[in-house]
Amino acid sequence: MKNLSPRQHEIFNLLESSGHLKAEEIQSAFKVSQATAYREMDNLARQGAAAKIPGGIAKIEQEIAGRCIQCKRESRPNLAFGLHTEKGEKLNACCPHCGLMALEMHPAVSAVTTDFFYGTIINAAQAWYVLESLVNPCCSPSVLSFASREDAKRFAGAFNGKLADFSQARQHNHKLMHFS
Ligand SMILES: [Zn+2]
Ligand SMILES: [Zn+2]
Repeated sequence: MKNLSPRQHEIFNLLESSGHLKAEEIQSAFKVSQATAYREMDNLARQGAAAKIPGGIAKIEQEIAGRCIQCKRESRPNLAFGLHTEKGEKLNACCPHCGLMALEMHPAVSAVTTDFFYGTIINAAQAWYVLESLVNPCCSPSVLSFASREDAKRFAGAFNGKLADFSQARQHNHKLMHFS
């Protein structure tokens, strides 16, 4: 993990063993205020060390593998997308294109995607997306995700794609679904 403070490290370790943590649990375990608990949870989510859920954080599943729920392709290392549904199911998609579609059909509490450059698992809600670029390694139109806005912007510029944040990417995908 990149730049975690000692306390963030401890929270992260706790999260690894418990699977999820509520703000109150962090407050009582570390004797900190609610504002501090929320700030630490934000920091962990921003660094890709945790996924935000209502009132707390959840562990990011490191393995997103298996067949895509949308198109049944095998998921690929630099493209995989995963979601945890409100019903507690874990679903996988081959790439962000199918992942964003799956989100429309299965209300999710958290979603993770993969940085196309580095293969790291990142929080889907905080990722940046490049839509319809010339690089089309999986489903069409291509949707790729990146942890850094700067990387995504450069990639979009080089390969003729459109830069989008999570909600813009979702809207875009939604539109395509209804016009295809
Ligand atoms: Zn798929
Ligand atoms: Zn795909």
